[in-house]
Amino acid sequence: MWEKKNSFDFHLHTLWSYDATADVEFYFAEASRLGVNCIAITEHHHMDSLPEALIAAEKYPDITYIRGAELTVSTPFGSIDMVCLGMPEVPTPELQQVFAAYHNWQREYGDSTCLNMTALGYPYSREEREMLLKRYRPAKTLNVQGITHVQAGVQCDYLIKEKKLFPDREAIRNLPRSEKVTPKPYPAYDFVLPAVRKAGALTFIAHPTRYFQRNNLERMDALREILQFDGIECAHTSVPEELTPFYREYALKHKLLSSAGSDCHSAPGDKYQFSSGCQLGGHIGDPRWVDEIMERLQK
Ligand SMILES: [Zn+2]
Repeated sequence: MWEKKNSFDFHLHTLWSYDATADVEFYFAEASRLGVNCIAITEHHHMDSLPEALIAAEKYPDITYIRGAELTVSTPFGSIDMVCLGMPEVPTPELQQVFAAYHNWQREYGDSTCLNMTALGYPYSREEREMLLKRYRPAKTLNVQGITHVQAGVQCDYLIKEKKLFPDREAIRNLPRSEKVTPKPYPAYDFVLPAVRKAGALTFIAHPTRYFQRNNLERMDALREILQFDGIECAHTSVPEELTPFYREYALKHKLLSSAGSDCHSAPGDKYQFSSGCQLGGHIGDPRWVDEIMERLQK
């Protein structure tokens, strides 16, 4: 169980994300117990947990639940995670296309990983991926999402310790790309983000320290220009505390919103612990940011 850290958390993953294990209702129960009165569930690349979240939200009327998603987009600056808040309960036709593209991407990216390793002489099959996914994911998620990519730690442990294909993670990270395999880029920013905006949701650049090269203003301006985000995730487990006020000031200067989240992936006691050390509401964001976001969402 967790201790109280902050009164809101706008970045949470449940077992419906390929790299997470926490139960949907667990977050609501913990939020209620701790007085974390506003939470957003932001799965990687889809909203497949929405039906369960809506049921949990009804059971915990003391918790304000924000529909969200974390969508990773391809950009000329590399791939970037975007936390989207205030997503519609029923996806618009454009969002349906976006989610279909991400569901395909997750399976195709998983396949391309296997094909690449196999082409390089390290046999790794889709069936093995399925076996690994079943170790830490419930069947209901695989029924909806198919054989996606596998959480990096689970996959590395298997390839290193069980298959003994590689000596360490470094060797896997440094694998070249075989010419026989086409890389699968994430869906493009100019396909995904307009659909999110048109659906009335707000886009935030997630945990931006690496994307912003810490505090490189030129880079921040360039990303703001191209992505047209509504806000910045100014506080997050991975954002150094001294940068939070800097990002907040930048956001205010450019009339952008500020968000914050813990990015929890697992609950205490889950058999698999991904991004361990995480805490619900574990960030230094200002609760007043919630009012600013809610005001914009109600417009
Ligand atoms: Zn995340």
